[in-house]
Amino acid sequence: MTKLTHLTIAKALKGLKNKDFTAKELTEAHISAIETSRSLNAFITETPDIALKQAEESDKRRASGTTGLLDGIPIAVKDLFCTKGVQTTAGSHILEGFIPTYESTVTANLFDNGAVMLGKTNLDEFAMGSSNTTSYFGNVINPWKNQNKPEADLVPGGSSGGSSSAVAARLALGATGTDTGGSIRQPAAFTGTVGIKPTYGRCSRWGTVAFSSSLDQAGAFARTVEDTALMLQAMAGHDPKDSTSAQKDVPDWSAALNDDIKGLKIGIPKEYRLDGMPEDIEKLWQQGMEWLKESGAEIVDVSLPHTKYALPAYYIIAPAEASSNLARYDGVRYGLRVEGEDLQGMYENTRAEGFGDEVKRRIMIGTYALSAGYYDAYYIKAQKVRRLIAEDFTKAYEQCDALLTPTAPSAAFAIGEKEDDPIKMYLNDVFTVPASLAGLPGMSVPAGLDHDGLPLGLQIIGKAWDEQTVLNIGKTIEKSAQFAAMPQMVVQKAA
Ligand code: GLN
Repeated sequence: MTKLTHLTIAKALKGLKNKDFTAKELTEAHISAIETSRSLNAFITETPDIALKQAEESDKRRASGTTGLLDGIPIAVKDLFCTKGVQTTAGSHILEGFIPTYESTVTANLFDNGAVMLGKTNLDEFAMGSSNTTSYFGNVINPWKNQNKPEADLVPGGSSGGSSSAVAARLALGATGTDTGGSIRQPAAFTGTVGIKPTYGRCSRWGTVAFSSSLDQAGAFARTVEDTALMLQAMAGHDPKDSTSAQKDVPDWSAALNDDIKGLKIGIPKEYRLDGMPEDIEKLWQQGMEWLKESGAEIVDVSLPHTKYALPAYYIIAPAEASSNLARYDGVRYGLRVEGEDLQGMYENTRAEGFGDEVKRRIMIGTYALSAGYYDAYYIKAQKVRRLIAEDFTKAYEQCDALLTPTAPSAAFAIGEKEDDPIKMYLNDVFTVPASLAGLPGMSVPAGLDHDGLPLGLQIIGKAWDEQTVLNIGKTIEKSAQFAAMPQMVVQKAA
């Protein structure tokens, strides 16, 4: 039988139903996998006791015949979602020791569907980053190795790097993530996992530590397209506690999932052909187009003319909102407090010690962009550009049903690379940020390996609320690509 940690969510659900194993056994297998993979630093907090208790309850529910969509499935939760009674840090020293008295809506939905929480995964501090190297709790390591430079530890992508690393290393069957500018799709691409960010408003943001409120959106990692559909279905839904959560029913994406994409028009945005893009990525993109054509789709060239302004606009809007959202961490209400001579001194000391460099950089950029005299020149301008970018997509969708692009302009890089220059790091998000600014659903599907033996992803961007088409195209790519490679450490452990 397949090792329990190597199952997909769909197969694990079948196994549980057939009584091949119990949720407790499935959970124990994952707990021990986590214990033997601590070198990846994927988790900030492990919650084995909670997991075992939830698993036992799940087994009881199954015996009595009342199960939820993910009953008994062990998952990991990005440490940006508040979990009642369990430390929630957002990867920051300033929230170290913060134990929420409430549950985020997304995790509450998952638990209502029977999911089992293995622990809270590491992330870039306040989800700011593309490499999981800004966490106060240390770097996360990608289980994949560059076969031509096997001595270097690679980044798992960011900011949801703990989640992507955990799913790739077979420490969890699925994981939650959040995506503000690419933090689900890029780490999915870097770790050979599937990652989906739904339409803005699909998942409630209530109880999720805010980075940039008009962009933040929860989503899921798993190892198959079907599994991400199941995860997302269990997470999503309208929530009266979040005014930006949409009053839309959650479709049964997993039941409707199919690879019949005949007649669909797939747009290829010409602005995504970057100079100097690695040849492997260029080739894989071309291959992706071939696969979709063979499946009956039509490939059309489209233009998203404002693409080049997406990153500059994002790096005004996201820091501006972050500077405002992070004003609440003052040493009074949450986590860390560093005393000072007076109240002002306490604020200053707490924030000086509590925030890391990247977070401070963004607070400064954001505060500047919002300050009197600069607000119109930067923030308002960026919002106008954002509108133009959203309109580009609307126009492109007059010609096509979805877009196909690479997920990221490179494969996973070594820890420490690109650290000298924040702009280099920001460039990781060139292909993911535009869809975020437009609030559109996007997904990364592993589609091949590069010449270093590292996974590469293809991104599908859909129309608002049309996750089904995104998933179906993802399923088609998955079927064509037959991506079965596993990180070397997983192969070794299984042997
Ligand atoms: N890497 C981007 C940033 O640093 C996106 C992060 C995210 O999506 N949370 O802002």
